[in-house]
Amino acid sequence: AKKSRRGSFVMYSTEMGSDIRERVRLLQNLRSAVESERLFVVYQPQVNLASGAVVGVEALIRWRKEDGSFVAPDRFIPLAEASGMIVAIGDWVLRMACRELVRFQALGLPTLRMSVNVSQIQFRHPDFLEKLNAALLDTGINPRYLELEITESVAMEDADFMLETLHMVRELGISIAIDDFGTGYSSLSQLRQLPIDRLKIDRAFVGELSQQVSGGHIAAMVIELGRNLKLTVIAEGIEDEGQAQSLLGLGCHEGQGYLYAKPLLPAQFTEWYQARVA
Ligand code: C2E
Ligand code: CA
Ligand code: CA
Ligand code: CA
Repeated sequence: AKKSRRGSFVMYSTEMGSDIRERVRLLQNLRSAVESERLFVVYQPQVNLASGAVVGVEALIRWRKEDGSFVAPDRFIPLAEASGMIVAIGDWVLRMACRELVRFQALGLPTLRMSVNVSQIQFRHPDFLEKLNAALLDTGINPRYLELEITESVAMEDADFMLETLHMVRELGISIAIDDFGTGYSSLSQLRQLPIDRLKIDRAFVGELSQQVSGGHIAAMVIELGRNLKLTVIAEGIEDEGQAQSLLGLGCHEGQGYLYAKPLLPAQFTEWYQARVA
């Protein structure tokens, strides 16, 4: 028996053997995808819920296979993390995103925030700060407009190390958002210690806003918590106007989701932006 991630015990089975083979194959494919540049980055707009103004974009990686089909990041990011490839991939995404923001500005778009997901493996790597600094210098991005998204669980583990690293990131002028907030178990006192700027409500809790279940209360609690700590609160996965209105009513500042736009290629984003402000 093997302890699974959820803490329950599962038996090895032939099914699992083929699952492992499948993952090995995927990992080999990922390695060649990196080499042959089949990875790219898309950008999903973030808006101010009250004014509708576009405030930023989140960079999200995409992998398109040779046959044209896509592999979801939820499938290959864990493999990239387990194999250590995430360090190189994450650095590449960071540079692409910084370069793209500089390009958006050159095209005359107003200053937007660029949010980049950072895996815990990447964040804990001894060269992380050095690479971050190099990306800033090489791309010429103003660090004030760069934000790193780290997940709640990452922020809470190994508190001393995390605190130190987060402070140094902040010293570079970069802001920090706690991603997937509400899925972990951080306490108010833990959260209060962290040098962060934004709480990001996971889309699971946004989806529950439209149903009459307790999930809506989680969104309400996260918003209240964030506001009490003087943080900006952003909700992801907003798909309809009802959810946007509920979130606004609860005091949520910003939002992101298919209601506004799906993650877009750079050219699609500038087109979307221009149509929106026209
Ligand atoms: P996440 O950081 O929580 O990103 C939000 C996910 O929700 C994205 O999925 C986004 O496309 C999706 N989404 C946004 N709005 C909506 C909506 O209205 N409805 C629905 N159903 N989905 C929406 P995506 O792009 O598939 O990424 C999945 C996860 O993969 C991300 O979750 C993040 O944890 C990870 N990921 C993506 N890109 C990167 C990256 O460059 N580096 C790292 N370390 N992780 C990444
Ligand atoms: Ca994110
Ligand atoms: Ca996530
Ligand atoms: Ca999420």
